[in-house]
Amino acid sequence: MQPSERMRPYDESAEGAGETVADAIHRRLVEAILYGDLASTDRLILQELADRFQVSLTPIREALQRMATEGFIEAIPRRGYRIRVPSPRHVAELWQVRVGLEQTAGELAVAALVRGENLDAVRQLEEIQRELESAANLSHRRHIELNALFHQTLVEASGNRLLGTIYHGIQMQLLGAWVQRGSDDWRSRLASESAEHGAIIKALVARDVSAVSLAIRIHLGRSLDGALRDIDARAAARAAQTQARK
Ligand SMILES: [Zn+2]
Repeated sequence: MQPSERMRPYDESAEGAGETVADAIHRRLVEAILYGDLASTDRLILQELADRFQVSLTPIREALQRMATEGFIEAIPRRGYRIRVPSPRHVAELWQVRVGLEQTAGELAVAALVRGENLDAVRQLEEIQRELESAANLSHRRHIELNALFHQTLVEASGNRLLGTIYHGIQMQLLGAWVQRGSDDWRSRLASESAEHGAIIKALVARDVSAVSLAIRIHLGRSLDGALRDIDARAAARAAQTQARK
């Protein structure tokens, strides 16, 4: 494990407001997996983590169990947990749910715009997209955040709060970061991404329901292809690593 902010001892005064110890440990460990402090070959051992964070075993156990349920790690009998590589099936299933949610959101957003509601959403989407395109040396993390903000804003433009909650619950931002971890290929996809985001905005401005729906489907279909390619590349790298250690 590399030392980083995320892997420092737990410090109550420095953590997020309203977070329990287990919440803070969970957040830090997920980020450590997503942003590379933990290598995919690292084991997560309860006692080691308790020593490192200087907390008791209880919040560590709770955080790890939650991460296992979310699919980031899996238990190995008597040896703690290991980090999982997202499976193509898991990713494809999540993307299918995501397309349904975002298309519904896009259609509802057009209806809201036609009624003269949520007019600010289009301006927000344009602003986020401008930032995505203008940021020099965009970091992986910033790209993940801005892209997630774009999609969250689109979903919220529907005005349907339940849709927003469900969308938040499928944790697309985490999955996106997880899939792309350690790969730089997302950079080569920025041009298509910005054209596709542009098409979504344009269709919203035109209040064109079928164009919005199609633009979302095209964008997410292309982004699923990219995600599956990233997973393939990682599986190949992992196999080569295992081979080299034999
Ligand atoms: Zn996007």
